[in-house]
Amino acid sequence: HGDSADYDREVRSVCPYCGVGCQISFKIKDDKIKYVDGAPGPSNENRLCVKGRFGFDYIAHPHRLLRPLIRRDDAPEKGLNVDPSNPLTHFREASWEEALDFAAAGLGRLREERGGRAIAGFGSAKCSNEEAYLFQKLIRQGFRHNNVDHCTRLCHASSVAALMENVGSGAVTATFNEIANADVALVIGANPIENHPVAATYFKQFTKRGGKLIVADPRGVGLRRFATHMLQFRPGADVALLNAIMHVIVEEGLTDEQYIAAYTENFEAQKEHLKGFSPEKMEPLCGIPAEEVRAVARAFATARSAMIFWGMGVSQHIHGTDNSRCLISLALMTGQIGRPGTGLHPLRGQNNVQGASDAGMIPMFLPDYQPVGDDGVRSLFQSIWEMEGWDAEPGLTVVEIMDAIHAGDIRGMYILGENPAMSDPDVEHARAALGKLEHLVVQDLFITETANYADVILPASAWAEKTGTVTNTNRQVQMGRPALTPPGEAREDWRIIVDLATRLGLDWTYRHPSEIFAEMKRGMKSLDNITWERLERENVVTYPSLSPEDPGQAVVFGDGFPRPEGRARFTPAMVTAPAETPDPEFPMILTTGRQLEHWHTGSMTRRAKVLDAVEPEANASLHPKTLRALGVAPGGMIRIETRRGAITVMARADRAVAEDMVFIPFAFVEAAANVLTNPQLDPYGKIPEFKFSACRVTDAGEA
Ligand code: SF4
Repeated sequence: HGDSADYDREVRSVCPYCGVGCQISFKIKDDKIKYVDGAPGPSNENRLCVKGRFGFDYIAHPHRLLRPLIRRDDAPEKGLNVDPSNPLTHFREASWEEALDFAAAGLGRLREERGGRAIAGFGSAKCSNEEAYLFQKLIRQGFRHNNVDHCTRLCHASSVAALMENVGSGAVTATFNEIANADVALVIGANPIENHPVAATYFKQFTKRGGKLIVADPRGVGLRRFATHMLQFRPGADVALLNAIMHVIVEEGLTDEQYIAAYTENFEAQKEHLKGFSPEKMEPLCGIPAEEVRAVARAFATARSAMIFWGMGVSQHIHGTDNSRCLISLALMTGQIGRPGTGLHPLRGQNNVQGASDAGMIPMFLPDYQPVGDDGVRSLFQSIWEMEGWDAEPGLTVVEIMDAIHAGDIRGMYILGENPAMSDPDVEHARAALGKLEHLVVQDLFITETANYADVILPASAWAEKTGTVTNTNRQVQMGRPALTPPGEAREDWRIIVDLATRLGLDWTYRHPSEIFAEMKRGMKSLDNITWERLERENVVTYPSLSPEDPGQAVVFGDGFPRPEGRARFTPAMVTAPAETPDPEFPMILTTGRQLEHWHTGSMTRRAKVLDAVEPEANASLHPKTLRALGVAPGGMIRIETRRGAITVMARADRAVAEDMVFIPFAFVEAAANVLTNPQLDPYGKIPEFKFSACRVTDAGEA
């Protein structure tokens, strides 16, 4: 912190890391960001976590790409072999003209020879709304099909599938700040203290004023210290636990019959289904005493107002959609939705994963989750985009695209800001796929692991250099403003997408992100009453906004749902075993996730001095008893193996991890957790099972 003498300019924007979407104020002196302060946004009220406050200097890191690069003719074979501080061993510098021509020519040639389906695009949840919209439009208009996806597939795709199916909308029904009006909150499969730290401050305040907090997670996550009930259930037993809770609610007559009759359908089937899930019967499966399950069920169902929050512990399973179906059913049968202090809130991960999904950067939906298979929807966008028809079939998802490359069906890719060479499950399979591509265009800030496989790299802009809007987990659309201009020859991403599109023959004439936003509004009812000018003036508007003066609705669906007859649906869920269960060869359970100081694949935070100093080393957490049994002291090296591969990593002792589990953050390339993970997919959300693999852990000695 400092006073106004410390800086000569300040710029109001949004934190580029998590879905909380804290508003920030860049303090700038001599065209350098001196420091970052919290600003009074609705989701953070001036608060920031360590990433938002200290994680900005990656933008001036010496690895920053300043000029376009084209792979040299004499470069070594593609692989994870480029030194990010000296990429000129594999690439040569090129002018923008040459690099864009080269990028477009390679994609255009494949389109001509193999058809547009031979191309796929991965955008990023770090894109602004306008960039995400343009990116999906480029794939759809330029290649006439829907092979476009991004990291939502790896985080909440199953939650969105369940919400769309049963509630009719993929976004939260209430902001997380609504917890201030709740009496009870259930936080399941989420670790907000590390992953949504500012949201966690509101959760802690809620317990301080007497709110009952129920935490359910196979790891003893940090919020347990504030919990009235901590349910540390067996990994993968989510459906068993949630069905047992609902069984008690039905059995003890705690359902909200009036609400069920007025606003839901299919409850009789759900009721019948739950008969087989008594807490006593489920106890051996989920490891939670039946009486504790009963106490939690009573607390939730009898609360005046109760909310449900969930994270990737729920979604990243082959039964992730079933997990979310259970949470939706729990809220519906107790009428805990649609009023202040009630509702469903999947805590969205990336700063703009909500907005990028809303903008249509997903293979099965056009903007606003309008199905690609619907003729009316396609003709609406054909008229907005002034084009002839394109494929009505949903495109391939993230993991499916990697498989399609191996099968020879996809030959070229355009990857903007995504890092599948680190983030995909069974990542050696993904890396091998990237290596097979005939033409790979990567647009990013650094030589990411994915850029190692590129044929051409386009130097992009960091969030602090951009103009654009983003939408946080609360459905709040916020204005991002540039604090600095991009360094060297780096360019704003929307400009690069437009330059590539025009070279692919598209007649695009955008001159400013506001023009893109205006076009988005033509096909997205969610943006009604939200204008660029309004966002410039007010910084934030929540959707839905009911009038040009309405700041937006914090709580939705008080008077029914966007489904037939306005009714939400109960979809019963069966218990499904994880795709791979422990056995004598691989007796332990591996789970992966994030940690406070590092963001996803680490390309930004590992280049931020303070964050990297606090958490510099790849690590794995195990229970102290497990480490003792292995004969490894905390700080010693262990080898972790699964059926996909092996890594060697430093061990940490952590009582929060069950004795048969190991937790690894996935930000560290030198011990990449995703070498180990299982690529099996949830059949509805197509999300991989990052939260459960069978593994073997051994002492790696001095390795
Ligand atoms: Fe940024 Fe999320 Fe931290 Fe807020 S809580 S400062 S949005 S990382």
